[in-house]
Amino acid sequence: MSINEKLEDLRINATSRSERRFVRPRDEQGQFKKISDYYGRNTFDFRTAKGIPDRIKEELIQVSRSNTPLSKETAKVVADVVLEWAMKKGATHFCHWFQPLTGATAEKHDSFLTIKDGKAMEYFSASMLMQGEPDASSFPNGGSRSTFEARGYTTWDLTSPMFLLDGVNGRTLCIPTAFVSYDGQALDIKTPLLRSEMSLSKNVSRFLAALGDESEFVQSTCGAEQEYFLIDKDFYFARPDLMMCGRTLFGSLSVKNQQLDDHYFGDIPERVMSCMQELDYELHKLGIPSKTRHNEVAPGQYELAPIFSYSNVSSDHNQLMMATIKKVAMKHNFVALLHEKPFAGINGSGKHLNWSMSTSNGENLLEPGPNPESNHRFLAVVASIIEAVNRHAPMLRATIASAGNDHRLGANEAPPSIISAYVGDTLEKIFTAIKEGKELGVSENISMDMGTQQLADVKKDNTDRNRTSPFAFTGNKFEFRACGSEMSIGLPLSVLNGAISSVFAESADFVEAEISRGASREEALKRLTKKWIDSSYKVIFNGDGYSDEWVREAESRGLANLRTSADAIPMLVDKNENTFLVNEQVFTNDELELRYNVLLERYCSVRLIELNTLVEMVYQHVVPAVLGYKKSLANAMSIDSSDTHNSLEKTIFDDLNSISKDMNLKLASLKGGIASLNHNDELACAKDIAYNLMPLSEELGQLCSDIEVIIPNKFWGLPKYMDMLFLR
Ligand code: ADP
Ligand code: MG
Repeated sequence: MSINEKLEDLRINATSRSERRFVRPRDEQGQFKKISDYYGRNTFDFRTAKGIPDRIKEELIQVSRSNTPLSKETAKVVADVVLEWAMKKGATHFCHWFQPLTGATAEKHDSFLTIKDGKAMEYFSASMLMQGEPDASSFPNGGSRSTFEARGYTTWDLTSPMFLLDGVNGRTLCIPTAFVSYDGQALDIKTPLLRSEMSLSKNVSRFLAALGDESEFVQSTCGAEQEYFLIDKDFYFARPDLMMCGRTLFGSLSVKNQQLDDHYFGDIPERVMSCMQELDYELHKLGIPSKTRHNEVAPGQYELAPIFSYSNVSSDHNQLMMATIKKVAMKHNFVALLHEKPFAGINGSGKHLNWSMSTSNGENLLEPGPNPESNHRFLAVVASIIEAVNRHAPMLRATIASAGNDHRLGANEAPPSIISAYVGDTLEKIFTAIKEGKELGVSENISMDMGTQQLADVKKDNTDRNRTSPFAFTGNKFEFRACGSEMSIGLPLSVLNGAISSVFAESADFVEAEISRGASREEALKRLTKKWIDSSYKVIFNGDGYSDEWVREAESRGLANLRTSADAIPMLVDKNENTFLVNEQVFTNDELELRYNVLLERYCSVRLIELNTLVEMVYQHVVPAVLGYKKSLANAMSIDSSDTHNSLEKTIFDDLNSISKDMNLKLASLKGGIASLNHNDELACAKDIAYNLMPLSEELGQLCSDIEVIIPNKFWGLPKYMDMLFLR
């Protein structure tokens, strides 16, 4: 079979698959059950669990909100109840589920089995629930621990519900845990996030208290919108670059791609729909509040958005959601690509982090109310957040640095690597007036353009919304849009919380001082707002973040533009940038260094895999195709030698020759570049890759794509963009 016949087979497979049915629960009348009938069925939350006395629940809630240790007696009560629940649901094993710095999740399963007096029985103790000790030597530790002392501990996170992972042959009880080293260093994503919540709660509560608004605690809330691509699995397995790197390293863009904008919010294809339905079902059973599903802009691209929850839970959910998307997609013979830029030339995928703060009474601190211009607390809260972005933009940029995200940031569908804040027309008017010391009376009739009362307003809101800003106020929350689709949201959330918390510490001091000096609350808040708007005005930008003018303007405003991961990651260990995180006890210096090392190492490893895969693909796929076609053209020329100068075959032959010569040279330079990388200095290596080898590999990739366009299908064995994006 020729390579093209094989590819034809894949195309036939992809287009002839039928939609998968799954067993969806039905009621006695045979109707599908409501979501609420099975929502959270596979989760265990002590707050709502039957069989745990209220007194114990209360104690656990207190422990989860403070640093007081959990007693074994209390934990044992939960362990007994959860064991019974899990066994009834068919679980035979449990695991401590955690998020090491690999970006993925980790789990090590233990059965409930114990042998007592020679008899097999199930057992689950308080300490099995509370603490585990996985062999941590193989998790990234950025050189922080030598392997002989590679002990790491997992400890139960009371704030995130336990859940059952389904397997076809049984179930496992998963306990969300933090992962720390023997000397208490955070080796994971979760621990700093929990610490950042503590810090935020302390400082924002103090700010509220100064205003007479008592709140037992304040927590950040997050709803993370997840974008992904689905492609038929046969195409995936026929592309080494997708298998090794999660993205195509070359490929000519299909003639029609996203120019017509006909995919966005369009009809969801039948086969994709059945996949989304099963996905939602699986997520809902896990208590993940999946709410919205739709087509995204690029062909083959989709989005899923959950209802927001507390950030820590949202972060766990997002990890679980990404894993579930991949798992369910596979059942439907799709592969879900979560990479930030699987296909060059069309939109990549991101994760919009909708973020706000909620008090213990459930009040959203970013709710503007009907009259934002006279809602002084609201304005001061927004101004404090903008100041945090102004001060810590470089660090925020560092938290979303990854090889994958470098392709997306600043490409024409994603916010640039310059971090600025969009506040919308209404707030801009208000803030400009405050800055200029003008009073804004209600007479000016400012109403929030995000209002939901009138349809006209809603419409305006949707069309006016600036999609180009990395950090945008969207009605009653901010949206941090620079996060990549594949990355864990825990790090950006920790740093965002930490940054905002550190400014609120000052906001609280300021308001306390003003009030003790006799200012009214309103005066204190107005002065605070003015103070922060004065200092942060330069980071506010409501214009087109995709434009070149903005890049120049941002530079003149003195805003950082950290283009690549190699530029951004070093912010983590820059004393001028990271001190607030240490002061707010979100990270220690060692922990920041750990993350710096891990991210840098990861960047280099990912890039090396990509570069070596590209080299291999050129030899394995492109060169044979070029030689095959050249031979056939040469043949044609020798048969018809009457007009060798202007013949079609000669022209194509020459074109192909010239491109492939170029390719040959670039290939040699790339191989030379890879061989001469300095692996003893990770930062130098990352920079060399980012500044030299990446541009070179992109040029090489472009030549391969140019060749793909010329070469007849007969010689080309790799699935094309048209196959991957359109055939299902
Ligand atoms: P948009 O039109 O801006 O996309 P949606 O109402 O569809 O707004 O919400 C988008 C995401 O923002 C959802 O995941 C939603 O749960 C989340 N969200 C809404 N309010 C908040 C909030 N107060 N805090 C955090 N996330 C929120
Ligand atoms: Mg949105």
